[in-house]
Amino acid sequence: MNRNGSVVFEPLLIVSRSVRTSRNRETPPLHLWVSKLAYPVTALGPGERLALWVSGCGLRCRGCITPNLWDRHAGVRKTTGAVAERLLAVSRRLDGLTITGGEPFEQAGALAELLRQIRAARPHWSVLIYSGHTLASLRRHGAEEEGLLGQTDVLIDGPYRSDRPARHPLAGSGNQTVHLLTERGRGMLEQIKALPMAHANLGFGTNDDDDWLIGVMDPATRRAINTRLGARSSRRT
Ligand code: SF4
Repeated sequence: MNRNGSVVFEPLLIVSRSVRTSRNRETPPLHLWVSKLAYPVTALGPGERLALWVSGCGLRCRGCITPNLWDRHAGVRKTTGAVAERLLAVSRRLDGLTITGGEPFEQAGALAELLRQIRAARPHWSVLIYSGHTLASLRRHGAEEEGLLGQTDVLIDGPYRSDRPARHPLAGSGNQTVHLLTERGRGMLEQIKALPMAHANLGFGTNDDDDWLIGVMDPATRRAINTRLGARSSRRT
């Protein structure tokens, strides 16, 4: 963390260039719509994590705190190789990657490819993903969703419901469920149980106007913190 105990928060302004990946050369590169990254984030999963926000979400949950990311063009379109290169350029030792948005499973194929590249370079990282879809519906969707679920250790699923107060430190509303999908995910159970409610990080942006409150908390708590901080913008995940 920086001298203020806060996280570095950056727009993903990645310079595109040719990146060789494990995909064969005839395969066109997959692209991702991505918005921002932040690290070290302690409010979106166990340990110190890299958080990645993708852009684009068609679910339109009432009370969503990131409607600014519903349009995928709010972010930038980059190859998975370029995004992986940017994430792996973070030199700080981190415990994992949290992907939120936006709706990650709207880009399931490209995110699965990104995670294959990340896992090859950071095998010790855990992967936590937020989705507005339920796990059951994702499993009915198809191969790309299955592929991304196969790369996910912890899934927090379900749409945001402002009328259902959250009861879990990682869930934005009471209908959402934390699924431990892998052996690594199940091994995180005690760490997850120890997470405090309404824990937040303040991400100081690279521009004066893009500081964000990062974390999962009820709207009243968020408003109170933002009022105290004078923060201009905030989000749940
Ligand atoms: S809460 Fe999540 S799933 Fe719902 S509209 Fe907002 S970004 Fe989409």
